[in-house]
Amino acid sequence: MPRYDFRCRACGATFELRRPMAQAGDPAVCPQGHQDTVKLLSTVAVTGAASAGGAPQQAPSAGGGGGCCGGGCCG
Ligand SMILES: [Zn+2]
Repeated sequence: MPRYDFRCRACGATFELRRPMAQAGDPAVCPQGHQDTVKLLSTVAVTGAASAGGAPQQAPSAGGGGGCCGGGCCG
């Protein structure tokens, strides 16, 4: 059974819960009784959603045949 890490936003405590994947998105209750918790993505790998950095994209650069030299203005 996978293990999920949660963090309580009320008291700042972190705790772990073991639950089936079907209940991964269910709200968890802090051991102190708080219900304002968030799930941490530390143990569950997320694939396909990471897009760090940036895709190599060709930026339009100068010097690739400008429209200025058509009439001999710069040569
Ligand atoms: Zn708490």
